[in-house]
Amino acid sequence: MEPVHVIGGGLAGSEAAWQVAEAGVPVVIHEMRPVRGTDAHQTEGLAELVCSNSFRSDDAESNAVGQLHWEMRRLGSLIMAKGDAHQVPAGGALAVDRDGFSQGVTAALEAHPLVTIARGEIAGLPPAEWDSVVVATGPLTSAALAQGILSLTGESSLAFFDAIAPIVHFDSVDMETAWFQSRYDKAGPGGSGADYINCPLDRDQYEAFVDALLAAEKTEFKEWEGTPYFDGCLPIEVMAERGRETLRWGPMKPVGLTNRHNPTVKAHAVVQLRQDNALGTLFNMTGFQTKLKYGEQSRIFRMIPGLQNAEFARLGGIHRNTYLNSPKLLDERLRLKAAPRLRFAGQITGCEGYVESAAIGLLAGRLAAAERLGRELPLPPATTALGALVNHITGGHIETIDEGPRSFQPMNINFGLFPPIEGVATIGPDGKRLKGPARSLARKQALTARAKRVMEAWIGTPA
Ligand SMILES: Cc1cc2nc3c(=O)[nH]c(=O)nc-3n(C[C@H](O)[C@H](O)[C@H](O)COP(=O)(O)OP(=O)(O)OC[C@H]3O[C@@H](n4cnc5c(N)ncnc54)[C@H](O)[C@@H]3O)c2cc1C
Repeated sequence: MEPVHVIGGGLAGSEAAWQVAEAGVPVVIHEMRPVRGTDAHQTEGLAELVCSNSFRSDDAESNAVGQLHWEMRRLGSLIMAKGDAHQVPAGGALAVDRDGFSQGVTAALEAHPLVTIARGEIAGLPPAEWDSVVVATGPLTSAALAQGILSLTGESSLAFFDAIAPIVHFDSVDMETAWFQSRYDKAGPGGSGADYINCPLDRDQYEAFVDALLAAEKTEFKEWEGTPYFDGCLPIEVMAERGRETLRWGPMKPVGLTNRHNPTVKAHAVVQLRQDNALGTLFNMTGFQTKLKYGEQSRIFRMIPGLQNAEFARLGGIHRNTYLNSPKLLDERLRLKAAPRLRFAGQITGCEGYVESAAIGLLAGRLAAAERLGRELPLPPATTALGALVNHITGGHIETIDEGPRSFQPMNINFGLFPPIEGVATIGPDGKRLKGPARSLARKQALTARAKRVMEAWIGTPA
């Protein structure tokens, strides 16, 4: 049987290769380290963790990444097995001994009879005779391969930096303060004229907000990242540094909007949030890409009226990050529409984080193996964490045509990606009505319980 070729032996590539081999299909991993390095990796080990050693929360009842851990374990994930084997104490999080973990993954793959590990860069598009390829080269994909991919996707569809604006759970926005309206009530393509959530600031609130931005702690770029600013995607704190009024002429301009709750008073500035996913559960803060430290972001953005209780599905950031405009380029089985022999996995598809990258690697590996074996593998339903994540990558995100950074930005798994659930208990065991955090916890528990049921049924589906 012809092998599946996996390019990149990081989190996604290692998991993808394991899944292919476990399905009985030969696989070759092409990893360029140590022949050629990246700016962040330091070893030649497979699945090297380039920064923190945490897989984040392991709580599979009330945390979305914990639920993803659970699903991956059920699906025989190598990354989770070695993470568990090399766990170090970290409270409710799963943190790992990075060297032991990477060595464990490498040894397991080296020992597998169907796995070959070839060290060397794939410097351009893979050879035409490779009919099934998983590209899992990550945020620091080598330049030569990135150029090859660009030749298939076009300039605008492969980004080299992300520019992430914070994303808020809709149900945490105070709609007694905020209101729905598009600027000048313009409907635009596919719009209704009331597509944005608007949060109004008076003069004092605006001045206090600018002061907070100027004083806040920022994350620095790494030396090798350079400073990728272009005018369409300046971080808000850089705009604030350019002048106290700059934001009011940029992403916070108050024109063309009337506060539904207070129509006679003109807002001094307005923050707009735009629907981010087809489910309508997530909204991104338009034009609010930022390098502020995470703690500062939550604190400062909650100063905005309407967002005082905001729960963030993800916070903003700007990083060196090679990734595709996947909703446009990939089919639902993660294949490049323009060249279906190439399937993508990991962070290059627009997910973010070690666990998410490995999860998409897991799915890509299973899909590649099923294809090689002539079997039809149904996709995991969007009510599972794995299904919700892949759905975000291949279809759940709503593309917008606004100026500025590309609208599809990398995403961690979070409950906002799951379809809403009906019938969550509203009364607690004490007979009292559930409120606030207790209600939110009941909802999360219902979502993870549903995800587990659906995942078990999916696993039972013959591939
Ligand atoms: C500086 C930095 C810090 C980060 N910190 C964190 C963090 O703290 N927590 C977190 O969850 N995520 C973090 N991330 C994101 C993290 O990199 C990803 O979540 C994860 O490693 C992505 O997995 P991947 O398999 O897609 O890519 P990677 O793990 O990067 O694996 C890609 C592999 O492909 C190889 N490769 C690249 N090009 C070629 C080629 N042409 N031929 C052959 N091999 C090639 C690389 O050497 C690498 O081994 C960070 C990323 C960076 C850049």
